[in-house]
Amino acid sequence: MSKCEVCGGSEFRREEVEEVFHVDKRYVLVEHIPATVCAQCGEKTFDAETTEGIRLMLHSQRAPARAVEMEVFAF
Ligand SMILES: [Zn+2]
Repeated sequence: MSKCEVCGGSEFRREEVEEVFHVDKRYVLVEHIPATVCAQCGEKTFDAETTEGIRLMLHSQRAPARAVEMEVFAF
């Protein structure tokens, strides 16, 4: 990756992030995802392998590590 799609920045760092995904009618939180994060605007990008791994995990019958309650606000 050479340039951020959002801000055009060119500095990135590797970081573990968490992200909420919408699966069927549920929202699930995935932690410790290796991501490339734009140093300028914080835009997170996952590589294809990571994205596919998350997709497979969320559509498997694998039990989640834990459950959290999530409050949802509409803005
Ligand atoms: Zn950026």
